[in-house]
Amino acid sequence: MNRLIIIVFTVFFYSVAGAAPVMPQPKVVKINERVYAFLGPMGQPSAHNQGYMVNSTVIIGEQGVILIDSGASDEVGNHLGKAIAKLTTKPVTHVINTHHHGDHVLGNIVFGKAEIISSEICREMVNKTGDEWIALMESLIGHKLPNTRPVPASVTYAGENTRTERTIQGVKLEFWVPAGSHTVGDMMVYLPEDKVLVGGDILVNRTIPVMRDALVKNWVGTLKQVRTFDAKTIVPGHGPLMKQEDVSKLQRQMDVFYTGVEAGYKKGLSDSETRKTLDVREWKKLEGFDANIGGNVSRTYLEVEQASF
Ligand SMILES: [Zn+2]
Repeated sequence: MNRLIIIVFTVFFYSVAGAAPVMPQPKVVKINERVYAFLGPMGQPSAHNQGYMVNSTVIIGEQGVILIDSGASDEVGNHLGKAIAKLTTKPVTHVINTHHHGDHVLGNIVFGKAEIISSEICREMVNKTGDEWIALMESLIGHKLPNTRPVPASVTYAGENTRTERTIQGVKLEFWVPAGSHTVGDMMVYLPEDKVLVGGDILVNRTIPVMRDALVKNWVGTLKQVRTFDAKTIVPGHGPLMKQEDVSKLQRQMDVFYTGVEAGYKKGLSDSETRKTLDVREWKKLEGFDANIGGNVSRTYLEVEQASF
């Protein structure tokens, strides 16, 4: 009898505590013969997703692969590397980072031989905040990441609002460094031959835009400029693929949000009073609403306040 209890308990214990969560697989969307979107799970980094919650873009060039956004740790980077190896035997020769947030850059470490490319300010921010991002990821996923180290870009493009064309592995790319929007050092990548725009977190779908490090007014302006690209497929930083009309919708929502916060400030309301006046019905349905709406209002309020001096 006692033995039975021990066996039952042991089976229970290992099935609950012993089984480490498995990192979810990317949803691989083939855009054309050489461009694939790897859509990660939605949501915050957690023990459940092991930190894998970002979108990446994989471009298979003549001799090697270009990877845009490398994930939140060496573990996620390796996970992406394995998924790439199912598509091609070519090595990853170039990694592009759309901005410095940990979920987009901390996988760089596993592509040590690749050329890492970002905006100039992104490189500075990776150097400045990389270790903090690792500590944050460790606390969110609930285990240490002893093999993750921040690896800043070796090739950078300066802003503000510059577009640089370059051909890598036979693939034409346009590096667009807009005025700082989601972060001070954003970069978007356009593939004119493929008509694909990769937006980083300036573009998000079915999840609330995160403004903690943002320049919100610039962000609205950047979204307006997206329509100057003849993009047929748009890869957001998080969430399903987008079309131009989805970007226009996001731009309208962001514009209404900024204008609403500005109106609250001008009426002499505090940021928490302003929050109550905002029409956020559409955003309420989105992933990450509760976690981010307060921070979004505070950040935008501060920006409006600073702009009025
Ligand atoms: Zn992100």
